[in-house]
Amino acid sequence: MNKGTLYLIKPFPFLFMLIIKGTGLVAQHGDYPIQPVPFTAVTIEDNFWAPKIKTNHEVTIPYGFMQSADRISNFEVAAGLKTGNFSTDYPFDDTDIYKLIEGASYSLHYFPDAKLESYIDSLIEIVGKAQEPDGYLYTTRTIAEKNGTKPHEWSGDKRWVNEHILSHELYNLGHLFESAVAYYQATGKKSLLNIAIKAADRIDQDFGWGKIEDYPGHQIVETGLARLYRATGEERYLNLAKFFLDVRGPGGEEYCQADKKVVDQTQAVGHSVRAVYMYAGMADIAALKNDPSYIQAIDKIWDDIVTTKTYVTGGIGASGGNEGFNGAYNLPNETAYCETCASIGNVYLNQRLFLLHGDAKYIDMLERTLYNALLSGVSLSGDRFFYPNVLRSSGSQERSEWFGCACCPPNVTRLIPSVPGYFYAINGDKLYVNLFAQNTAHLTVNGNPVELKQNTSYPWDGNIEIIVNPAIRKTFTIMLRIPGWARNEAMPGNLYRFTDSDKRTSITLTVNGKSITPEINKGYAVITRSWKNDDKIVLSLSMTPRTITADPRVKADSLLIAIQRGPMVYCAEGAGNGDKVLSLQYHPLHMPLIARFDPNLLGGTEVIETTATEETGSNTRPVMLIPYFLWNNRGKSEMEVWLPIQTPRP
Ligand SMILES: [Zn+2]
Repeated sequence: MNKGTLYLIKPFPFLFMLIIKGTGLVAQHGDYPIQPVPFTAVTIEDNFWAPKIKTNHEVTIPYGFMQSADRISNFEVAAGLKTGNFSTDYPFDDTDIYKLIEGASYSLHYFPDAKLESYIDSLIEIVGKAQEPDGYLYTTRTIAEKNGTKPHEWSGDKRWVNEHILSHELYNLGHLFESAVAYYQATGKKSLLNIAIKAADRIDQDFGWGKIEDYPGHQIVETGLARLYRATGEERYLNLAKFFLDVRGPGGEEYCQADKKVVDQTQAVGHSVRAVYMYAGMADIAALKNDPSYIQAIDKIWDDIVTTKTYVTGGIGASGGNEGFNGAYNLPNETAYCETCASIGNVYLNQRLFLLHGDAKYIDMLERTLYNALLSGVSLSGDRFFYPNVLRSSGSQERSEWFGCACCPPNVTRLIPSVPGYFYAINGDKLYVNLFAQNTAHLTVNGNPVELKQNTSYPWDGNIEIIVNPAIRKTFTIMLRIPGWARNEAMPGNLYRFTDSDKRTSITLTVNGKSITPEINKGYAVITRSWKNDDKIVLSLSMTPRTITADPRVKADSLLIAIQRGPMVYCAEGAGNGDKVLSLQYHPLHMPLIARFDPNLLGGTEVIETTATEETGSNTRPVMLIPYFLWNNRGKSEMEVWLPIQTPRP
């Protein structure tokens, strides 16, 4: 991934030392105690993620560039390559190009593609020409200055003056930093990285204590700068990221989390994408600066999100009005916002909290969000997208071809190919196995190369076989995540619970055929042994469909039942059910829920059969439930996650 440019020479839990080749620069810093195994070390060989990564490459990325021709045109005009005006709706439209380049960078690892790479090189050349000589990069203002007109009305008369309100100048650059590092790591080419460095130096000269003391209205520059710091070792970028957190609040808008100092915040408020990007930035700075005050704040905020503000699909942000969080337990289903970007940010946040704390509850949330609220954001075909992801539809919604505000689809392109990077992590002699799918990984535990192979049909099947092949027979610990849903915990906290939690849950675990009952620590089975070639762990998780009820304070889910099987939340969809599912009463509590695999439906999926009664009559009829993320791949249709139930008869 790094093409030999960054050498990690001395890993131990809290301190990493990097030598940056060619610069002679040595950066010494802390980082997350747990380090993720990069996606480049994990080869997915399954029928679930591998096709999605392929579709992302073959359809979504080229389609995204095609849909973004007007954004590219903005860069061309700013670059002086043609005349014209800023031709799109929002000053942050530059980010769509950065996000697509980031997604394409990851994708190039799986599908080396000279044509795509050369196309990106040509885009980077244009971006470089659109950058002003002093490093400032923001097409709407540069175009306006060339034309002697005004920039976008959100931009302010001068650079940065509207930054904490609407200009999104730093938001644009945050995405530039993310994509620049991704492209550099994918190709070894520094073209975009140099543009990013020049822009970061511009910000560093303009912002800081005693300079412009202002914060970004839309966060992401914090994680972007942290990433740029990791790639370059330039401490100023890390300090700048910390500055943008510390200068925020009090007295600003709750909408953009500026009503309080970030370390004093205890609840998730405001625009949900801004919020989770900021919390992810706080986690990064907490790790890199070893600052516990950020950790205490984000731990409280996480508790607030998980216990009062998360949908059963893992989606967050209940209200379209502020594109963000409602008050506690206010989780309407038909008007649920659950922006796809917020789910992506929720994955980023939970991964970072796992890397800080080593607790599987964060991966439980990551998995729930990933397989449900997030994947719902893109169609199976890869070219239709949800922005909000509702949990109930009267049939009026369908995925869109694109959006005027197109934040979500390019965000999907960068998330999908990085999914294999969430599977494994290392802390000293501990190897964390977090997610499950057929894959082969090559990683290093305490200096010992280890090949790990998972054989499984997860998420459809709960049998997971893990073959361990260390280069040298050595003792180390495999921390094997036992998902919360398999331990009778519908979700961390008590917002949702299984109604059938008295049912015996079956988890079996063997090593080389012998049953073991290891210590369970923070949701992980702790398996320490002297591992040798072909050692085999088999984990079997019960995939019985489960019924879920919400905390009674969630009025929208009152007297309703949701169905989950493994990590998947299910829904009833009109398609395949006579176009009618909203007016039924379901019988999941007193009739068996039958799961079966249908290889011909929606790319191959496990479906659940249940029965329901028409409200007006007594005729009972079968209803087929499908995984929530698969809905609306067969045209417009009614859909419901939370099912009205018929009172169980004795
Ligand atoms: Zn979005």
